[in-house]
Amino acid sequence: MDLINGTTMIIDSHVDTPTQLIRYKRNIGVVNQEGQVDFPRMKAGEVDGAFFALYTPPEMKGAEATRHALEMLGATYDACDEYADVAALAFSPDEVAQNRAKGLISVMLGMENAEPVGESLSLLRAFYRLGVSYVTLTHNADNAVADSAAEGTRWGGLSPFGREVVAEMNALGMMIDLSHASDKTFWDCIERSAAPVVATHSCCRALCSHRRNLTDEMLKALGEKGGYVGINFYPYFLSDRFDEAKAWRPGVSEIVDHIEHAVALAGVGHVGIGSDFDGIDDCTPEGLGDISKSRLVLDEMRRRGWAEKDVIRVAGQNLLDVWCRIVNCSE
Ligand SMILES: [Zn+2]
Repeated sequence: MDLINGTTMIIDSHVDTPTQLIRYKRNIGVVNQEGQVDFPRMKAGEVDGAFFALYTPPEMKGAEATRHALEMLGATYDACDEYADVAALAFSPDEVAQNRAKGLISVMLGMENAEPVGESLSLLRAFYRLGVSYVTLTHNADNAVADSAAEGTRWGGLSPFGREVVAEMNALGMMIDLSHASDKTFWDCIERSAAPVVATHSCCRALCSHRRNLTDEMLKALGEKGGYVGINFYPYFLSDRFDEAKAWRPGVSEIVDHIEHAVALAGVGHVGIGSDFDGIDDCTPEGLGDISKSRLVLDEMRRRGWAEKDVIRVAGQNLLDVWCRIVNCSE
């Protein structure tokens, strides 16, 4: 879809700001000293939108997890209401375009860790109706839906209920997010999902050995299925060198290395930016202290000779395109 008329539109596929809204009562309408995301800094960085992840920690279970997700959802709605002159929720790619035409930042909703859904497809549908457009199936623990990259022992991939979740998400047009998933969960979803799948905040394992980064085979499969990977800015996922010697931090150069590697395997239409800002404590890459700096990644791509049309794709077009493809599969 041609939403952006040849201009750069930055859309981040994963920030953890809802946790900050409830944990620290962050006022997202002013410039904050803490954390990495607020509306003024998004504006300053010409960031047109971001998926706000409703993140549930692995130790939170059952009804407590559901309540927690709803509280973050409510806080995100409240923040968008309070600053309605600056930002608005977007439940579809068309609404992103409409918001942009009005000069508004788009706030999209994702759920990180399917625990709040419990074992209920009705709850999944309820969250979808409230605007949750993707579900990151797991965080750092196996859950009722699937195994996580950090554990990976409970089901050997998707659980029987997880297979129902995948089918239901396909029917609804919800994006299946495989960041944090175990390798087996990833391949189960590649096999079973009727729609493309995404990894909203993941890096390349060939460049950094962290177990939750994607292998070359996974990147290739993601592209072949019409999916998407948003490259994560967390230094631990960008470079093994950071883990060994913290005096040095990876920066825009390493991020673009991951983007270029992912593009080589998945294709230029299947890679974007999923910073993980507000989910990485104060561990930010060199020179990228907050979301106002994300555009420096695009500058580095231009410096390396990328065609502007491809910079535009990675900046946000690819994410909107995969979202459209997934919605279209459900119709
Ligand atoms: Zn995450």
